[in-house]
Amino acid sequence: MISALNIEKKFDKLEVLKGVTLEVHKGEVVAIIGPSGSGKSTFLRCLNRLENIDGGSIVIEGDELVTTTSDGKVMYAEETQARMICRKMGMVFQQFNLFPHLTVLDNVIEAPITVKGVKKEEIVPEAEELLYKVGLQDKLNSYPSRLSGGQKQRVAIARALAMKPDIMLFDEPTSALDPELTGEVLKAMRQLAEEHMTMIVVTHEMGFAREVANRVIFMDNGEIIEQGDPEEVFGNPQHMRTQAFLNHMS
Ligand code: ATP
Ligand code: MG
Repeated sequence: MISALNIEKKFDKLEVLKGVTLEVHKGEVVAIIGPSGSGKSTFLRCLNRLENIDGGSIVIEGDELVTTTSDGKVMYAEETQARMICRKMGMVFQQFNLFPHLTVLDNVIEAPITVKGVKKEEIVPEAEELLYKVGLQDKLNSYPSRLSGGQKQRVAIARALAMKPDIMLFDEPTSALDPELTGEVLKAMRQLAEEHMTMIVVTHEMGFAREVANRVIFMDNGEIIEQGDPEEVFGNPQHMRTQAFLNHMS
């Protein structure tokens, strides 16, 4: 489904990703954990081309987004093709990034209409259903400024899903929320996982990672240090850096 091989990324001289390889299969939920600055967000952003990589290759559902030749030349797919590939991935960020001047419903239907050319009468019922699913059926006509953080984040999830992605990328979707609001967002994500959405979730929510993820990846300093079944990684971490991180978190 997703095959990222040997991803390298630098910001000037700073090597942020030092050859990260991750394959994610259909329906898998992968949680990425690790200290601040370890490259988690950068890795997600490279997958959907919010950042360009400096080496490696990314294949999404059999389509090559980018590859690196043997002499080190990074070659991206042609623009239209690259956009089509990246559209298979929906992303939810820590900051919700809703359009403040649009209602909840209009936030959700905006991209399908403008990017995909879907007819309004076709997308509105779908958007309503998505908003119902995330528990916001009574907020369709509200503006984002009238919503709690948890509600905003659930709109952001519905908005990403309205594009019918095959893969959802989450970058710390609950870390900007007050603790009492994280549960409702995690619940929506858990529901998606139960529907077998393929998901990569960068998170500090160790409970969520342990219960919902099929695989946990520990990243530190631009590398994957350890990965495995959540019970193994949390219950019996093999690497000293994983142990230190988990001790620090608990
Ligand atoms: P956190 O848990 O704090 O979100 P992270 O694991 O997501 O951390 P990244 O945001 O990927 O870490 O950052 C990895 C490194 O890359 C950090 O040292 C960061 O300062 C640097 N970095 C990230 N984005 C940029 C950028 N646009 N320009 C320069 N440096 C950057
Ligand atoms: Mg981050």
